[in-house]
Amino acid sequence: MKLVYLDYAATTPVAVEVAETMAQHLTLEGNFANPASRSHRFGWQAEEAVESARITVAKLIGASNREIVWTSGATESNNLAIKGVLEGFQFGHIITSSIEHKAILDTCAYQQSKGFDVTYLEPDKDGLISAPQVKQALRPDTRLVTLMLVNNEIGNVTDIQSVAKVLASHDALLHCDAAQGTGKLAIDVAELGVDLMSICAHKMYGPKGIGALYVRKAPEVVVHQQIHGGGHERGMRSGTLATHQIVGFAKAAELVMNNLAAEIEHNTKLRDKLWQGLEVLGGVQRNSHPTQCSPNHLNVSFSGVDGEILLASLAQLAISSGSACNSASVAPSYVLKALGLADELAHAGIRFSVGRYTTESDIDFTISEVTRVLSALR
Ligand SMILES: *Cc1c(COP(=O)(O)O)cnc(C)c1O
Repeated sequence: MKLVYLDYAATTPVAVEVAETMAQHLTLEGNFANPASRSHRFGWQAEEAVESARITVAKLIGASNREIVWTSGATESNNLAIKGVLEGFQFGHIITSSIEHKAILDTCAYQQSKGFDVTYLEPDKDGLISAPQVKQALRPDTRLVTLMLVNNEIGNVTDIQSVAKVLASHDALLHCDAAQGTGKLAIDVAELGVDLMSICAHKMYGPKGIGALYVRKAPEVVVHQQIHGGGHERGMRSGTLATHQIVGFAKAAELVMNNLAAEIEHNTKLRDKLWQGLEVLGGVQRNSHPTQCSPNHLNVSFSGVDGEILLASLAQLAISSGSACNSASVAPSYVLKALGLADELAHAGIRFSVGRYTTESDIDFTISEVTRVLSALR
């Protein structure tokens, strides 16, 4: 049975070059040692690989290597950013949005339980959060603003740069969850004006289980450790560094840097072709923003069909309703609901996400499958 993978926003396959690099950092013949082992050459070599990877990953986002803290992924980076910053305060206020990833929403809810106030900005009807909203919500005791760069469900891109300008004359730090944007868009932390940024490898053809938190090097950016131990990562995150994961992340970053413009063009072309093929079917609404959107996302709702049945009937397509992280629950997508969609359409939302290995014929097949299933169900 032919299967087409269109769930690159949930995770991507590991690039072959990345898997090869990782394999060279595991076995006795390879670079396997503990990078924190200072007493022998094996350890020095592992440390060298980790530090060279740090330079590469930093370069991907325009940071310096001293500003990268390795974590297990964007979930941990988000936790470290929010908890790590707020631990320096007894009370205060956080600004975020109602369409953030659960790793942000649940961490903010936890901070609320500890006594912090949280403002959840609502997107406008186009699914965008804007700088004036942040400005209006800002209070003297606002400690942190955390907003995502690219929404995982719909792909909409937040104008982080303008948010940073609003915060220029305020003490609040700016954190950005860029898990969904890294490797898909050109990202430069200085241009964005962020103090903290979460990234991970597995959405950009690297392995799962490795990510990083960018921590701008400045006296006012203080992150308290959440995982205590050997004092690794300049005291911000203890634990033996996973050399094979880290070099895999760096290899993935290198591949992205060598080919980003072409990849954006490839994704945009296929995503647009898909939309053209679906639009003509009628009764379909594009939930993703037409222009301010990541090149690989297309979230749509079909009217006149039950979303769950539609998804189940498209068994040859790897696509998702809501985000993969919530796929255990059948509640309508909270992101689509925040956009003002009625329950029925929020339930019928489907996310198609293309990527590096998607082909024109994958898209042709997808369009013909959706056409066939929709006409049968309607
Ligand atoms: C995937 C994702 C995460 C979680 O990242 P992990 O590395 O899987 O923990 C967080 N935020 C966004 C926006 C994501 O897309």
